[in-house]
Amino acid sequence: MLCKPWHRLKTTFIIFVAACAFMAPLANASSADQVSEPPEKVILVIADGMGFPFLSAYRYFKDGRNYTKANDIQPTVFDTYLVGVASTFPADDTLVTDSAASATALATGVKTYNGAISVDAEGNPIPTIMQHARKQGWLTGAIATTRITHATPAAFFAHVPSRRMEDEIADQMSALDENGNPPFDLLLGSGRRHFVRKDDEGNRLSHLRTLSNRGVRVVDSFEQLKTQQRLPLLGLFYEDSFPYVIDDEKRLEMMSREGIRLLDNANKPYVLMIEASMVDWCGHANDIACAMHEMAELEKLMEYLIEYAAENPNTQIILTADHSTGGLTLGADGEYKFRAGDIHRIGRGLRTMAVDMNEMPAIDWDAYIDKYLPFTLTVDHQEALKKLAHSSSDRRRAEIQQVLVDIVRFHTGAGWTTGGHTGEDVPVIAIGPWSDHFRGFQDQTDIGKQLFEWVR
Ligand SMILES: [Zn+2]
Repeated sequence: MLCKPWHRLKTTFIIFVAACAFMAPLANASSADQVSEPPEKVILVIADGMGFPFLSAYRYFKDGRNYTKANDIQPTVFDTYLVGVASTFPADDTLVTDSAASATALATGVKTYNGAISVDAEGNPIPTIMQHARKQGWLTGAIATTRITHATPAAFFAHVPSRRMEDEIADQMSALDENGNPPFDLLLGSGRRHFVRKDDEGNRLSHLRTLSNRGVRVVDSFEQLKTQQRLPLLGLFYEDSFPYVIDDEKRLEMMSREGIRLLDNANKPYVLMIEASMVDWCGHANDIACAMHEMAELEKLMEYLIEYAAENPNTQIILTADHSTGGLTLGADGEYKFRAGDIHRIGRGLRTMAVDMNEMPAIDWDAYIDKYLPFTLTVDHQEALKKLAHSSSDRRRAEIQQVLVDIVRFHTGAGWTTGGHTGEDVPVIAIGPWSDHFRGFQDQTDIGKQLFEWVR
């Protein structure tokens, strides 16, 4: 073991940390010969909202203990393949990016303003890696655990001045070119409501029917997905959003495995974007258990992709985040503690719990909380809940959720500074012979530019 940050000598410690941070996956790197040609299978994984604290928290969560006195906490796959960091600032006056500007930077190599979907600061469309790849005869795809019209996947296939224009994004994703082909080979996610809707005159628009009449397979269940044999394919598995993993089950690795099977069946080079969408949603909700379950889903995906890359040496995988969400800290309110083991005791998403509690009689709250959040409540938390039990505020759901967030913060030591995003640099993790391209510090646009260089 070369990389031991716990090395006894302080001077050596510094050298080893610096070296190890950017050298760990060297075992992956192949000979210079092999990397002189570009990869033929490029998989960009975007973990929405996954700043560095999520990697640290997940390492302890996975270990599952509240503390250890031995030096025995194992690195995760994220730690093992970490190669660099990326800055994410947008081209406006904020320095803190949203998912739209950040996805645009990754998809086009160009910075833009928050809210923009692959248009520049003046609103002009910028060619995306997917559009470029199609021109070069490559297959293109996106897989997400949210609406496929949501900011991150949208920036790879559409151009609109505002991320809120999800109907227009669905229209662009459904638009056929002069040869009758859709702008994608594979899209898997949710958001059926944007593809089947009423127009301004009340006429029913069904882009799904138009697409399937033109030879695009359209599926709406995971069972159907598993039986598909060819592209192009559009899978829309929910009307709106996916459920949280903590409330449901893992699905990202399965969706990706099926998507990659279909891309491989077509036997052409491809660029695939996979988004672990809901790390961000849990971050916005300041919900540590929710975030850790989404991270576990992402780790399962990465384990599959590592296997895939080993069997397909012409594959390069890059995992990065678009920004961090929630300002997660390990340790809150001046207390030196992060109770990773106790996070395992939480059995439901806090937002889901708040929705349930807002609808059920308050007399059932105690039993419900005890089932999914089995901590001894402080007097303050009990008082806050008692007050809300009799409240008729239309913000009651949000207020209940805030008390649940406070309970979890108190018992686990997971702190949050915001309900929004934060602007610190994000991890860059790379698997495959071309990983050297991403070593050390870079801006996220460098990742986008590198993709363009490979696809030719
Ligand atoms: Zn977000």
